[in-house]
Amino acid sequence: MLKKEYKDAWTTYNEEDKKALFDYAERYRKFISDNKTERECVETLVKEAEQHGYKNLDECIKNNAQLKTGDKVYANYGNKTLILYCIGKNDILDGMNLLGAHLDSPRLDLKPNPLYEDTNLAMLKTHYYGGVKKYQWVSLPLAMHGVIAKKDGTVIKVVIGESEDDPVFGISDLLIHLASEQMEKKLKEAISGEDLNVCFGTLPIDTDDEKLKNKVKENVLQILNTKYDITEEDLFSSEIQLVPAGKARDYGIDKSMVAGYGQDDRVCSYASFEAILEVENPDKTTCCILVDKEEIGSVGASGMNSNYFENTVAELLNLLGKYSELNVRRVLSKSKMLSSDVTAGADPNFPSALEKNNAAYFGKGVVLMKYTGSRGKSGSNEANAEYVAQLRKIMEDNNVYWQTCELGKIDLGGGGTIAYILAKYGMDVIDCGVPVHSMHAPWEITSKVDLYEMRKAYVAFLKDA
Ligand code: MN
Ligand code: MN
Repeated sequence: MLKKEYKDAWTTYNEEDKKALFDYAERYRKFISDNKTERECVETLVKEAEQHGYKNLDECIKNNAQLKTGDKVYANYGNKTLILYCIGKNDILDGMNLLGAHLDSPRLDLKPNPLYEDTNLAMLKTHYYGGVKKYQWVSLPLAMHGVIAKKDGTVIKVVIGESEDDPVFGISDLLIHLASEQMEKKLKEAISGEDLNVCFGTLPIDTDDEKLKNKVKENVLQILNTKYDITEEDLFSSEIQLVPAGKARDYGIDKSMVAGYGQDDRVCSYASFEAILEVENPDKTTCCILVDKEEIGSVGASGMNSNYFENTVAELLNLLGKYSELNVRRVLSKSKMLSSDVTAGADPNFPSALEKNNAAYFGKGVVLMKYTGSRGKSGSNEANAEYVAQLRKIMEDNNVYWQTCELGKIDLGGGGTIAYILAKYGMDVIDCGVPVHSMHAPWEITSKVDLYEMRKAYVAFLKDA
């Protein structure tokens, strides 16, 4: 056929396939319900990887282990970034097949000195993380997730607001009756960053001390001390995130979609993780990179721009008896990668944001994006035509439904991923993912058939690329 038709993937499924699809969506829905920070994701995935025979790279280094074909190792950086490898049958110097996605999501972080009392309310100051539309984060039940590290070396895990008996928190909005000034403001100014203060309590501490000020804050500190054995200063060495409270849900009367927090980019992270577990004894060495800090530019020690990934490749080569500086470069330059991140799904509520011939649609499968970027492809990594052709063939051979898109109309905005960072090594990289509605909103929407086609695409890529 001369004409390319981007089919609706749903129509190609028989009952058995549909069951596998909905089972997968259920596993995914549970994962994003239970894991709302990069730390929680890494902890859960490390446990599961170990159950599948993955060994800690640090332990292998300490024991001077010799790695061989079929061996599986993982590297955990700071409980925020996780890299998994499965040693293939072919010489690793012929390159690896890499999947990459990110585990961090937009949210509100507590400031270093967050707690104060105002108007007889205990309040928490936050600093938003990543690209958020601030007005979306008010009058919404929020849960608190994170860790508090103490001077004695203990690290206390915090999760409040997910179980039915837990309290939730929130940021108030101004009542409509008094909002005539606010309503005249631009959307981006109606709620400012310094307005994102969380209401944390109202009960004053029970005391005879008439002179004691800020009795509500005092009571909150007492509660935190009883619950976690911490003082106010301990909050300085904490990483506490406010995220939407509650589990991800089926979406739509036909339950064909998932609504949940943090789907950007745990939707690709989870599919990548399941794919590398599924492909045992691969021909080429496989690798799955699940990285932190993408939402703020891939900076920092746990971001993709750090040398951490490259260091693990050097260690891996060393344990295979093949280390040299030159070999590290050779492996990286000969590798191939799917850099996986979500993209904008065509949305009848906002048709003017997308050019319909180059938009991604719910139900049409995994999205292959030749480039991302903005304003004249700036900041993008454009995949080579030859590599795109190879991927088309892999998708066809494995009956994977795929579509292509640009991220929105030219000059409306745009965005980048981790693709350009890996491309620096000279490897073939393409952007890949699924369409999302309400990306970066507290609740994001995906189509279950796209999730499943993406998982199929990853398995096919790891085996055949
Ligand atoms: Mn993303
Ligand atoms: Mn994002």
